[in-house]
Amino acid sequence: RSLPVEPSEDSAPRAVPGACFCRVRPTPLRNPRLVAMSLPALALLGLEAAGPAAEMEEREAEAALYFSGNRLLPGSEPAAHCYCGHQFGSFAGQLGDGAAMYLGEVLGPRGGRWEMQLKGAGLTPFSRQADGRKVLRSSIREFLCSEAMFHLGIPTTRAGTCVTSDSEVVRDIFYDGNPKKERCTVVLRIASTFLRFGSFEIFKPTDEYTGRKGPSVNRNDIRIQMLDYVIGTFYPEIQEAYSDNSIQRNAAFFKEITKRTARLVAEWQCVGFCHGVLNTDNMSIVGLTIDYGPFGFMDRYDPEHICNGSDNTGRYAYNKQPEICKWNLGKLAEALVPELPLEISELILEEEYDAEFEKHYLQKMRKKLGLIQLELEEDSKLVSELLETMHLTGGDFTNTFYLLSSFSVDSDPSRLEDFLEKLASQCASMEELKVAFKPQMDPRQLSMMLMLAQSNPQLFALFGTKANINKELERIEQFTKLQQLTAADLLSRNKRHWTEWLEKYKVRLQKEIEGISDVDAWNTDRVKVMNSNNPKYILRNYIAQNAIEAAENGDFSEVRNVLKLLENPFQETESFTEVKGDTEEEEATAAAAA
Ligand code: AMP
Ligand code: MG
Ligand code: MG
Repeated sequence: RSLPVEPSEDSAPRAVPGACFCRVRPTPLRNPRLVAMSLPALALLGLEAAGPAAEMEEREAEAALYFSGNRLLPGSEPAAHCYCGHQFGSFAGQLGDGAAMYLGEVLGPRGGRWEMQLKGAGLTPFSRQADGRKVLRSSIREFLCSEAMFHLGIPTTRAGTCVTSDSEVVRDIFYDGNPKKERCTVVLRIASTFLRFGSFEIFKPTDEYTGRKGPSVNRNDIRIQMLDYVIGTFYPEIQEAYSDNSIQRNAAFFKEITKRTARLVAEWQCVGFCHGVLNTDNMSIVGLTIDYGPFGFMDRYDPEHICNGSDNTGRYAYNKQPEICKWNLGKLAEALVPELPLEISELILEEEYDAEFEKHYLQKMRKKLGLIQLELEEDSKLVSELLETMHLTGGDFTNTFYLLSSFSVDSDPSRLEDFLEKLASQCASMEELKVAFKPQMDPRQLSMMLMLAQSNPQLFALFGTKANINKELERIEQFTKLQQLTAADLLSRNKRHWTEWLEKYKVRLQKEIEGISDVDAWNTDRVKVMNSNNPKYILRNYIAQNAIEAAENGDFSEVRNVLKLLENPFQETESFTEVKGDTEEEEATAAAAA
């Protein structure tokens, strides 16, 4: 049974003063059809989408009908949420669900209470200058990455289906000088809630810097209701432990979201994930990864990696994510006044965020390195030296970690020819490295800044440019060295760097086994931990791109295959044997055995 979709109510984009939600209706699509669906995500809702092959076509058609927004599920009352946010550091006023529509909630058969949302379902009052649509490209990326993150064990909103259609919109991609028409596509998103930091920013008065006005919801009773709802529903332990709406309760909530956010970013850093648009409206109030747009997983490790083409200053670069999310928590704190006084929230942020981030990051990195026995202070140095080696050699972030479990405590790094070869061959080419380390400052500008740094270090530090200069000097040094190398030199240079780090890793592993009688059992555990923390499959940009191109040509099998791989991202590694013999003959035998 279903309700027919009624003609769209008034969804003209406009300012909606005083609103938290507006009722909306999806705009139907022409000829909707299923690109892919995630069975585990749909199962959350009690939708058992798997079934006899003979019925699949029918089931897919049904999924396409409902999850395009062409039909509404019984009981569904679609709405668009009004939120505000700080975009790229400044208050942007009213934003809101411009392309997404809330459909309602479902009590899952296996527990949980899930909000359903259609992304790309048409105009809402919050669509601003845009059309409320999403295209195949962006939808496949969001669909695949949501599920990939879940299977990597990282908190995230989920994606149930991806449905495309014959309806078209023009996006600003041009080929042959003509605007390219793209297919309207809708993703069914699922999460406990889609409320964001920005949801609380609708109470903000006119911004003093930008002069921008939000929807001016200047009613404390609504802020209290929203806070009661969030804490009561998503933080029930906190609600139970404190009295209603007490400052202590609100402080406990803020402390918890601070810690969740810190842990979330630590998870991102450990898998090389770059979000790309960490505005406050893209920060989940329950600590999920939300809004997959220009995100990217790093290939070559580059701490300053920027995945968003319009992020000119690198505000959302990989290495900035931790501090940016802390800044965003500061904006949430401002939005919670007076329910939570700023003196209290600022103290919580200072006391909890960095400590929680560091702790979680190091714990995760220890697992990635298979350090399961001891927690040593020196471990954080070992991690940063590993990252430095990756950076210098252009090592692939995911593959490097994945390979490390093949290294064992009794290996002699310099004799692991096959292993070193493998490590070094996943490093960037000479051309790529030259681009990466190409000096960026004009030499005259650099020498002037150096002079200034020497004559007036305090003034200089005030501009925060000292770090830039050091980075530039480092780049020049690396670039000059690279200039003198042949490709063969580069390979042996990389092997040298890796041998050096592996020696340190070996020393650390030896500390692990001091006092352990069954080293084999320890190593089995170590490899198991490493293999379940270092993914083999991540959603690299080119993999998404291949699936998108096939889908644009009407072939959805690639999207489905990629989804299948991403559902099992952790795989066992092969092992390498050391070349042991002293004579050539012995070495040959050992190598053959390997
Ligand atoms: P984002 O940068 O994706 O977080 O989006 C920022 C704002 O733009 C949010 O209010 C979105 O709802 C809105 N928005 C993004 N894409 C669209 C679209 N295709 N149509 C209407 N609004 C959009
Ligand atoms: Mg967003
Ligand atoms: Mg978005």
